[in-house]
Amino acid sequence: MSPATVSCPTCGRELEWVGAPFRPFCSERCRLIDLGAWFSEQRAIPDESTPAGAAPAEADPTEPPPK
Ligand SMILES: [Zn+2]
Repeated sequence: MSPATVSCPTCGRELEWVGAPFRPFCSERCRLIDLGAWFSEQRAIPDESTPAGAAPAEADPTEPPPK
């Protein structure tokens, strides 16, 4: 059975799962906050792991390998 209520990942507030327009978040604000945190984390990873001034321009990661 699925729970009748879930906890908002951003603020931890409980909300009813059924009919929640921004689930699993309690509000659009919490949803945007979580998205913003996710994007900043994604950006922070390469920034921290790549030494400054030593970034080789390798294959484009957005391009899928040929089959
Ligand atoms: Zn919330």
